Amino acid sequence: KNNPTNELRKQSSSTFVIRCGMNLVFVAAEVAPWSKTGGLGDVLGGLPPALAARGHRVMTVSPRYDQYRDGWDTSVSLELRVGDRTETMRFFHTYKRGVDRVFVDHPIFLARVWGITGSKLYGPMAGKDYEDNQLRFSLLSQAALEAPRVLNLNNNPLYSGPYGEDVVFIANDWHTALLPAYLKSEYRPRGIYRNAKVAFCIHNMVYQGRFALSDYSRLHLPEELKPAFDFVDGYDKPVKGRKINWMKAGMLESDRVVTVSPYYAQEVVSSVERGVELDDVARMTGITGIVNGMDIQEWNPSIDKYIGTNYDITTVLNAKPLIKEALQAEVGLPVDKSIPLIGFIGRLEEQKGSDILVEAIPNFIQENVQIIILGTGKKQMEKQIAKLESLYPENARGVAKFNASLAHMIVAGADYMLIPSRFEPCGLVQLYAMRYGTVPVVASTGGLVDTCDMVDPTDLQAVVTTVKRALAAYGTPASREMILNCMAQDFSWKEPAKKWEDLLLSLEVTGS
Ligand code: ADP
Repeated sequence: KNNPTNELRKQSSSTFVIRCGMNLVFVAAEVAPWSKTGGLGDVLGGLPPALAARGHRVMTVSPRYDQYRDGWDTSVSLELRVGDRTETMRFFHTYKRGVDRVFVDHPIFLARVWGITGSKLYGPMAGKDYEDNQLRFSLLSQAALEAPRVLNLNNNPLYSGPYGEDVVFIANDWHTALLPAYLKSEYRPRGIYRNAKVAFCIHNMVYQGRFALSDYSRLHLPEELKPAFDFVDGYDKPVKGRKINWMKAGMLESDRVVTVSPYYAQEVVSSVERGVELDDVARMTGITGIVNGMDIQEWNPSIDKYIGTNYDITTVLNAKPLIKEALQAEVGLPVDKSIPLIGFIGRLEEQKGSDILVEAIPNFIQENVQIIILGTGKKQMEKQIAKLESLYPENARGVAKFNASLAHMIVAGADYMLIPSRFEPCGLVQLYAMRYGTVPVVASTGGLVDTCDMVDPTDLQAVVTTVKRALAAYGTPASREMILNCMAQDFSWKEPAKKWEDLLLSLEVTGS
């Protein structure tokens, strides 16, 4: 298949115009490894370098939540209107894997958050947001619109100077949904960003940024754009009072709406529940699903620094039992490589079905099995998993921490990775698992359907039955073959990046 960028180069070379790659500006509230609470951060970490490798000039813009050791002060500062104040922000920058990583520095981000992982990016604790999140993310979008114009970036050997105005912005999730609105209200009337385009990518439909209607005035956007934000909770049974909905505006004001898997794209337009009351908007705008890739450098069993024994497809069957033993020792389970071990990693929320899993445990724990659950989230669920050790000292452990090293150990050392999500826009844990020869046992929803073979619906009985079936297959030639089949697949960003490139090029070429 022809690379569309080359295609364009060929077409334009006849008119002696040398056309290079696109100028792409990704904007998001998280970017791994600098900041991450979940898949959003991972995508911002992995997709931009994959597009840079295809010849595009790529920048990400995200908050500076911490004093990142590798992020340098550019000395470029700006005054922006945030709420009813004028705030001064600065840009920090680093250049990694072909990507300009730009960080927005302002106390509204930095003074709140310590460490790179915590659940503190959005609020003081899980489920509780900062009251000024609208101002924080208004600042992010405004700064992101300035970055390509004001930053003189020269690390990339292929490009130099500011990105300029011919850019495609890729805004991600509700936090960046104001970007296309500000572009239309602040820049286009002044003749700036005439050819710029915006793609809006939804990583999870559940988090929409719904706020009081009266907050609209804090965003200093014109009245003409207000209908795009206008929203009533409740759909069939409208709840009294109107609101503003950032995600709705992001979808309506962008040139293209994208989400993180084809199956999830179908799901969100299929029902009010799946579309979380924006199904009608998604039907109107259309929504394209491109499945996420994974970061194959961060998640690579042959160089993984956390797992003790490195391996590849030729050594997996010998290495995994050793890593399993180390993992068992690490969490204090009986060390025995012949016991099948099930892992779970994820936010402890209804979405991830961690409650279903905990409920299912008594129904299969009497088998020859061990289970390790790693997750943070709702306090009630954290308590639930912490209790597992006293209930099943020989068989189960729950670790209510955000712990990258243990996550890697589980991905490598477990035999099965259980993913009983009620819904899953894409899901990355199943991809990591397969790359490490750990067989995923997944619910038939969203991106899990696009990426896994083994599917089963989510309910208590189905989880129990599926787990028992997996345990029965443990150690058989069929299960060894499954391990090798998992590892033989390519889950890198290579293919998804081509699809993203096609989509973004189509915006650039066709105009809107
Ligand atoms: P989501 O974005 O919905 O949270 P994904 O499966 O797309 O789910 O991504 C989750 C990411 O967060 C994965 O990289 C996973 O390893 C990581 N993760 C989740 N919980 C933890 C935890 N407690 N400790 C370490 N990593 C975690």
